[in-house]
Amino acid sequence: MAGLYIHIPFCASRCIYCGFYSTTSLELRQQYVDAVCREMSLLPTPSKERGSIDTIYLGGGTPSQLTPDQLRQLFLYINKVYENQAVEVTIEMNPDDVTAEYAAVLAELGINRVSMGAQTFDDERLHFLHRRHTAGQVPQAVKTLRDAGILNISVDLMYGFPNETLEDWQRDIEAVLALNVEHLSAYCLMIEEGTPLYRMLHKGKASSLCDEELERQMYEMLIDKLTAAGYEHYEISNFAKPGYRSRHNSSYWQDIPYIGLGAAAHSYTVLEGSPSERTAVRSWNVADIQQYIKAIEHGELPSEQELIDADTHYNDRITVALRTSNGLDLTNLSNRHRRYCLKEAQRFLDDDLLQLHDNHLSLTRKGLFVSDYIMSSLIMV
Ligand code: SF4
Repeated sequence: MAGLYIHIPFCASRCIYCGFYSTTSLELRQQYVDAVCREMSLLPTPSKERGSIDTIYLGGGTPSQLTPDQLRQLFLYINKVYENQAVEVTIEMNPDDVTAEYAAVLAELGINRVSMGAQTFDDERLHFLHRRHTAGQVPQAVKTLRDAGILNISVDLMYGFPNETLEDWQRDIEAVLALNVEHLSAYCLMIEEGTPLYRMLHKGKASSLCDEELERQMYEMLIDKLTAAGYEHYEISNFAKPGYRSRHNSSYWQDIPYIGLGAAAHSYTVLEGSPSERTAVRSWNVADIQQYIKAIEHGELPSEQELIDADTHYNDRITVALRTSNGLDLTNLSNRHRRYCLKEAQRFLDDDLLQLHDNHLSLTRKGLFVSDYIMSSLIMV
């Protein structure tokens, strides 16, 4: 079983903090959807056992910028090429794209989960970020989706904005809790080079971001309030009501292969061999819509790939699995990697920053706040 990810790199406008690959020129959408459908048939046909898909994720960009017919076309091809056994089918949406008509199309296609970028419930801040929606559109969108029968909704929040106070953040957390959604992701605002926000900060047109201590307090408040409200903190940035952890993202964290379609999409295959000295192949498509379409129209796959050797695979497991509350399953490591990992982990176990239960190594609550340092200490250099 694998996850299928389809990248839809179109946005109605660009948010100032965003480093994802996308364009605001919407005229190539149909050609792009045609190319993604063709890419499905150009990829080696998956065998029955390994070709079944158990999660589908339409990410972006803004997948809700596709028309209902373009969405129908994608699903027609998915069902033609893959053995579609998807129990979780997610689309990322912007709140202002959610209409009753669009929600009905999602339900018709079997899309049963929506991930929506709310980011903050402060209209001034939304305006500063160049988000297109208002705070009031988020609860309306949640209601519209529920009325259409979409009962698994995830909302993204951000914190650590310039001038944001702990009280501002508390208001955002309370606003999101009032929505009673099934899943929440919360990320600290990062300044990525090349983004408009990065340029604004460097030209002094935006005040710098919140300091480390405030960021820590915000994260602490997030964990306290969400766990008190019944959410499971199952990954550093992700919270879910019981039974609503993201299956698609969990499969990335559990080292399960995935297929990525579209410009800039990544795919991952674990190679056969000893499970404890695993190697894998990661491939990625060109991050340029026009080059992507052109290559596919010529019957070529515009991708590059790299072999992930056993040590790199171990390092990847450290930086991914340790982010989750399930932690790193040491029984999946070779004797060599397990010995190395436990030796390096000992000081963090002694300091109550890591814990070991049932052969699973995971971060303690204290360890969550220094996770980057712990992970970088456990990887092989
Ligand atoms: S944050 Fe989302 S909507 Fe905004 S530019 Fe990035 S991909 Fe597009």
